[in-house]
Amino acid sequence: MTDRRTQLAQNLAQVEERISSACAAAGRAREDVTLIVVTKTYPASDVRLLAELGVRHVAENRDQDAAPKAAECSDLSLTWHFVGQLQTNKVRSVANYTDVVQSVDRLKLVNSLSAAAVRTGRKLDCLIQVALDAESGQTGRKTADRGGAAPDEVAALADALAEAEGLRPAGLMTVAPLVGPYAGRQRAAFDRLMEIATDLRSAHPAANMVSAGMSADLEDAVAAGATHVRVGTAVLGVRPRLR
Ligand SMILES: *Cc1c(COP(=O)(O)O)cnc(C)c1O
Repeated sequence: MTDRRTQLAQNLAQVEERISSACAAAGRAREDVTLIVVTKTYPASDVRLLAELGVRHVAENRDQDAAPKAAECSDLSLTWHFVGQLQTNKVRSVANYTDVVQSVDRLKLVNSLSAAAVRTGRKLDCLIQVALDAESGQTGRKTADRGGAAPDEVAALADALAEAEGLRPAGLMTVAPLVGPYAGRQRAAFDRLMEIATDLRSAHPAANMVSAGMSADLEDAVAAGATHVRVGTAVLGVRPRLR
């Protein structure tokens, strides 16, 4: 049986090959796309192996799991991304170990994150999560536990992030929708996200991160112009069912 380190190294090499090929096909430089490995449900020992294998960005989606894991890995030079639905009562904990919050989708969260960032004395990069299947006014809704702001709510959220102490609007994140007009149309969904990202940059030029694409659709995201892909399963294996 191959040991865990070898297995992770092989999976990483395959994902690297997929990203490189997608970049080449799109005429993009490989270094324009950053790999974030989503380590949710996997142990700190895996995070450590990934760091040894050259991974620099990891992502988590539940504070209960992420906080102890990040503490165990605090000696590693990793950038921690938070990609899950964020409740305001978890914000203070998340701000202790997270460098980039990718799931900002409502004004209330901006206020809590700002207060938490000020407390820790750190600056938090924030991505606005866009729900491409959402209508205006459904902000922060719990549909399918995915979260996200409607496209027409992005501008106001970005302005709020820019004004909030301790926060910086850094760009956009999306998960390809399972329902609505973009269901099953990843490339079209990511193209739409890029349009919203262009609008955002005209108001906030430094908000240039576009986080899109997962194990199943990273090629579509790279083709559309994503700067960050979030890959879990293809690196770590199929996740055990969430408790
Ligand atoms: C779990 C998760 C991923 C990774 O998904 P895979 O299909 O395992 O690659 C990416 N983004 C978010 C927001 C996630 O929750």
